[in-house]
Amino acid sequence: MPELPEVESTVRGLERLIVGRRITGVWSDAPKLIKGGTFGKFEKDIKGKKIISLSRRAKNVLIHLDEGYLLLIHLKMTGHLMVGHWSLPKKGPVRPEGDGDLLDKVNGYIHVVFMLDDGRMVALSDLRKFAKVVLGKEEEVLKREKMSKIGPEATDIPLSEFKKIMSGSKKSVKMVLMDQEKIAGIGNIYSDDILWKAKVHPLRPAGSLSDAEIRSIYKAAKDILSIAIKLGGTSISDYRDVFGGKGGYGDRRLVYRRDGEPCKRCGSPIKRMKMGGRSARFCPDCQKI
Ligand SMILES: [Zn+2]
Repeated sequence: MPELPEVESTVRGLERLIVGRRITGVWSDAPKLIKGGTFGKFEKDIKGKKIISLSRRAKNVLIHLDEGYLLLIHLKMTGHLMVGHWSLPKKGPVRPEGDGDLLDKVNGYIHVVFMLDDGRMVALSDLRKFAKVVLGKEEEVLKREKMSKIGPEATDIPLSEFKKIMSGSKKSVKMVLMDQEKIAGIGNIYSDDILWKAKVHPLRPAGSLSDAEIRSIYKAAKDILSIAIKLGGTSISDYRDVFGGKGGYGDRRLVYRRDGEPCKRCGSPIKRMKMGGRSARFCPDCQKI
């Protein structure tokens, strides 16, 4: 699932390409992705709206439109947004026009397309069709999506608040890092890498961490997220950037999906462990429970 660095890269990419443009139409072959009303209403409401700015909150892409409207897109498991041209036949698959990364198979699951007034399009590719698209007046969308319940951004949270969250929880540190109501933006990829870098076992109860351990996790989180943003996120699964290309963090990742490979610090094989329906990867020698 795209996490903070992937969503941030999408927002920054879109920002450069679509701010100031008007949306002239919308197409979808999976209207169930559009929440909160019929496709007809969605189409009527979005037509003619101007794109004022973009921002990110947790793992949500926020496209601010004129007349106080907000288009919120959550990419969920396999969604990603791209800018380009696609042919939209009445029947049969949507095809990109031109060449390059947009032709890659992973970019071919186009289910929602926004047409812009300069002839370009913004397309949502989503293999599993779990993404969520919501349009409405900004306050209504933020309320509907319970955005006020989301915790502080992992990239902005002060150390004092981070300490309070960790020491106040009996849950495992990995679960707390991934809990969007506690800290926003971190998922499976970055929690694995952050805990490896901080040399903390993913199952450690957050409340049992020492001050020094909390500080290491905090520093690792800031460092790793900022590197991952610079590199354009991780594309070892479906995530791609706005041109359909891969982010560079996948090659640099520390332990995520490196089961059995040697630890970059001590050489011991990286282990994988089931944890509440998810997998955690860790070094059994560097990250003692
Ligand atoms: Zn190790």
